[in-house]
Amino acid sequence: MQKKILIFAQQYQILAPCLWLGCSRKVYRNIMSEITRREFLRRMAVGTAVVGTTVLTGCDSKSDSQTKSTGALPDIPIDKMTYRTNRNSGDKVSILGYGCMRWPTRPKENGEGDELDQEQINRLVDTAIEHGVNYFDTSPVYCQGESERATGIALSRYDRKDYLIATKLSNFSPDTQTYEGSVQMYRNSLKMLQTDYLDYLLLHAIGGNMEDFNRRFINNGVLDFLVAEKKEDRIRNLGFSFHGSQECFDQLMKLHDDGAYHWDFVQIQMNYLDWKNAFVPSEYLYNELTRRNIPVVIMEPLLGGRLSKVNDHIVGEMKSREPERTVASWAFRFCGTWENVLTTLSGMTYMEHLEDNLRSFCPLQPLTDDELDFLDKMATEIMNYPTIPCTGCQYCMPCPYGLDIPGIFAHYNKCINEGQMPTTSEDENYAKLRRAFLIGYDRSVPRLRQADHCVGCRQCVEHCPQKIDIPSQMDRIDEFVEKLKTNEL
Ligand code: SF4
Ligand code: SF4
Repeated sequence: MQKKILIFAQQYQILAPCLWLGCSRKVYRNIMSEITRREFLRRMAVGTAVVGTTVLTGCDSKSDSQTKSTGALPDIPIDKMTYRTNRNSGDKVSILGYGCMRWPTRPKENGEGDELDQEQINRLVDTAIEHGVNYFDTSPVYCQGESERATGIALSRYDRKDYLIATKLSNFSPDTQTYEGSVQMYRNSLKMLQTDYLDYLLLHAIGGNMEDFNRRFINNGVLDFLVAEKKEDRIRNLGFSFHGSQECFDQLMKLHDDGAYHWDFVQIQMNYLDWKNAFVPSEYLYNELTRRNIPVVIMEPLLGGRLSKVNDHIVGEMKSREPERTVASWAFRFCGTWENVLTTLSGMTYMEHLEDNLRSFCPLQPLTDDELDFLDKMATEIMNYPTIPCTGCQYCMPCPYGLDIPGIFAHYNKCINEGQMPTTSEDENYAKLRRAFLIGYDRSVPRLRQADHCVGCRQCVEHCPQKIDIPSQMDRIDEFVEKLKTNEL
């Protein structure tokens, strides 16, 4: 009986029955591990299907990934944007690119959920274009599949020559990995974006290994189809975005070196923290691309907002050098300093984000060697703080057990960054910090979605581009929270 209730609980992501039964987390795990293989596989299939259709969305009307500007700020000049020239195509590209994965939303009139706020999107696009932004990056899966349509509506009010569109072949689910499915996705992108050609098309999120790449693009003939489209000028630049291993990256470069496929550009995760410290350091990726004359498009310049919410001590060091600049602007300037960077993508949901970024890039003031050394030192200090390198990208979601994975990590990191971590009961502020941590945790993550509900199924792990061992971190956080609750620290 207990097991049946738990199976029901798992299927509907309701773990309350477990609590009603007085099960400890360990008992819950043991019982779940006894579920028959058939049941397990069936539920895995449902979970995977859900992940396949909803992963890589990213819209969040409440997301606030960047430090807010404060105080009276100078006007942003409209003719000072820094541009880079794509040596291969001749495109003049704004060094700030608009990432269209987090368009603002508003409540639907019928009260049933949210929808993209087209008027606000149009205003953001107008301000961006007015200040010289001309590169807009979207995908068929961003904003629950609505980003391309909204981006197309906003951009089609301008002359097609005034902006560059980048979108992706996001064939993650099995039905889009057939030749027909992928071609349909590509044609639908053209339709949604109201255009008959794409300036930049990316094979989306190449990760894992070459087996995955071959299945999605080679064995089904999709990459050959795209190459043919390029010959017809319906795709002007063909590249990929990368989240994989160094071995996988090297093999993709070998395809280029051997002349099997030509990469016109590559999008990589690059910022001052990942430069030396990432799973595959961005310094390595950047240098490999640069020596092949392949332009670089940067994603995650702020590491999902992590580099705008650094520890107070680091904020202090940055402010003492540049009191007028935001913490985020250091990260943007780092990206723009490298000559082979074509554009730096930032998902700007709110006007204040856009304006702050425009201040960093209108014009770009490259970092000096001394400033690069300073950021290198800051990166080492950040690495010494035990935050979890979650960017909030949501690729791991949904967790089949209902955990709010990025929300849990965000609360934990926030307390560390703000110096509000209750570390030992000997600390004179311990009682206050302990209470603030626990209350903040319950406020930011509903109880049924907290770390103690992780059963260690590991379904999330392969989706995390930051290679975080999510279940281990959940164990660690759960243990910490338990110690706080029982006053055992
Ligand atoms: S390992 Fe934990 S967090 Fe990851 S999918 Fe499973 S239950 Fe969710
Ligand atoms: S845990 Fe990984 S996949 Fe999930 S939101 Fe964080 S960085 Fe993204």
